[in-house]
Amino acid sequence: MLAGEEVIEQMWGVSLDRLYESAEGQRILSCIQCGTCAGACPYGEHMLYPPRRIITMLKAGLIEEVFDSDSLFKCVNCYTCMTKCPREIKLTEILLPLVKEQSAVRLEEMPAELQKAIENTYRYGNSYGESARKRAAWIDTIDVPIRILAKDPTPVDILWFVECDLSYHPRGQDAARATALLFHLLDLDFAILGPEERCAGDCGRLSWEPGLAEALVDYNLSIFEKYRFNRIVTNDPHALDAFKYRYPMFEFKYKTTATVPELHRHLDRLAPMLSRKLDYLVTYHDSCCLGRHNGFYDEPRALLEAIPGVRLVEMEHTRENSICCGGGGGGMWLDTWYKQQDIERLSDRRLREVIATGADVLAVACPYEVSRFEDAVKLAGYEDRIIVRDITELLVEALGGH
Ligand code: SF4
Ligand code: SF4
Repeated sequence: MLAGEEVIEQMWGVSLDRLYESAEGQRILSCIQCGTCAGACPYGEHMLYPPRRIITMLKAGLIEEVFDSDSLFKCVNCYTCMTKCPREIKLTEILLPLVKEQSAVRLEEMPAELQKAIENTYRYGNSYGESARKRAAWIDTIDVPIRILAKDPTPVDILWFVECDLSYHPRGQDAARATALLFHLLDLDFAILGPEERCAGDCGRLSWEPGLAEALVDYNLSIFEKYRFNRIVTNDPHALDAFKYRYPMFEFKYKTTATVPELHRHLDRLAPMLSRKLDYLVTYHDSCCLGRHNGFYDEPRALLEAIPGVRLVEMEHTRENSICCGGGGGGMWLDTWYKQQDIERLSDRRLREVIATGADVLAVACPYEVSRFEDAVKLAGYEDRIIVRDITELLVEALGGH
């Protein structure tokens, strides 16, 4: 047996050991050390152990050194390395989270912000540390009927999984209100879980706390089983990832999509409602999970192009080459740590591409991005020149008379 194979077995313990027996374990060992992953990684230059080196260390029997390093705090789970790997190794889906899990056990200290977010999610089911009872408080701020399943458990077509940012963050709530209005006008049969909903848990698993993610999966599955619905729609591409790629490991059986492709399905009915001209030059930022991981590149652009007056302009890096906003994999709660390491935030780097287009609107489709980019715009002193809007907000702005 090769040293690397032994280490894989040790490293993976119960779950990883099964992986080693799988084709994926073999595929990891087939790495040709081309370096494409490290070269493409947005934080590759700062990472002591980019994917290529992790595999080198694994094969050399030195993986313990990787576990003891904080190198993967710089991995924002952007899927770039996985998309480009010529061996199609599931780096972001499998190898990197597994290494993070092992590191999490050994690291003496977790960056404070991330630690707090994890603790809040354990205690309250959301990283904000807000009461679960307030999760649906935002629905009182909009004059649209929104059904909460606990109050009316009759079967429904769409379980709208609102998620934490849209439930609690003031700017996320703008997108929640916009989505509710659009669903209502399109006459979709939808309901929410309200106070019964908890974080889907994808970023928990991918950012150092697998036990937390599994607890959330267990909890959410137990709530789903209480109600009858046909499918799940969520605005959060990270939740979409959780439901598409993690929950099926736990007998999750529901079809799931994101709000953007759902709205796109109804574009023939939505477009005639968009009667107000918006004279905006818009550039769209492809979210890593919605775009690179799930292939929704055309749908957001088609929605934006349906708005009268909107002209689309593309950034230097788009679609599968888009640069991450830096919020995934725990990055949302690592900004202070990056600053301490003297590493530029990816949202600040990406904003330079936005500015270069001359656009006056940056359109996004992931709840992390609104706050991250608004902060970057403020920091760069571009508040008078660039506004950041979720696509749902732009669609609602274009609704004449509503
Ligand atoms: S891109 Fe794939 S094959 Fe190339 S070094 Fe990275 S992991 Fe190995
Ligand atoms: S997922 Fe993104 S950030 Fe993480 S190692 Fe791959 S390219 Fe780098």
